[in-house]
Amino acid sequence: MGEAEQEQQGRRGIDRRTLLIGGAAAAFGTVVLARDELGRLWWRLPGVVKKRKEGEVDAPGVQWIAASDYNWRRADRPDDYKIDRVVIHVVQGGYDTALRVFKDPSHGAAAHYVVRKDGHIAQMIRELDVAFHAGNKSYNERSIGIEHEGFVDKKSSFTDAMYAASARLTAGICRRYDIPVDREHIVGHVEVPGTDHTDPGPYWDWDRYMRLVRAERDKPERPEKPTGSAKPEKPEKPEKKD
Ligand SMILES: [Zn+2]
Repeated sequence: MGEAEQEQQGRRGIDRRTLLIGGAAAAFGTVVLARDELGRLWWRLPGVVKKRKEGEVDAPGVQWIAASDYNWRRADRPDDYKIDRVVIHVVQGGYDTALRVFKDPSHGAAAHYVVRKDGHIAQMIRELDVAFHAGNKSYNERSIGIEHEGFVDKKSSFTDAMYAASARLTAGICRRYDIPVDREHIVGHVEVPGTDHTDPGPYWDWDRYMRLVRAERDKPERPEKPTGSAKPEKPEKPEKKD
């Protein structure tokens, strides 16, 4: 049994128990029996909302632009679902189009991130939540989706800046969730079981992309602030550290 299936069963167990005893109030009565499970699933109980800071992002340098609530599902990854895939998409449109449809509640789909040609990245859904981007429930639950502006049949869509920014983002995701940097774990939408989508298409340079992701992953962790020489080096009391 795969981990995803085990999680499914665990969830089903809780749901059934909750249902049989009669709702959320009664579910608290099972707290001793299922404390661990409830600990992971407490946010599913009615009236309980996990605290989130508005505008908080998961990757350095990205801009928060919220997708419609209808295009994703609240979760608590990686505690409730293990994250072990990154899914690469191409919008079949521009950056602004992607933002517009992901903000549209009637669209029914959205990815966590959208990468622009110039390397700018919008984060629209938190990594802990499940985005509806892969067209496959279990892949949505286990993955983070990255959209790239442009078209599958247009090689010029994919710029150096886009590859570099996207690779940095994917390397960070792989580091955060301990995901191997290989083509089994970093996949195109076209490789998601059951999909009829073809993105990222034949012009997406996988060799180059994977090379860039590996290089980014192997870099030492970057400091939060640039350590430029803006300040004159004048250590007044070098022996005093704090
Ligand atoms: Zn796609």
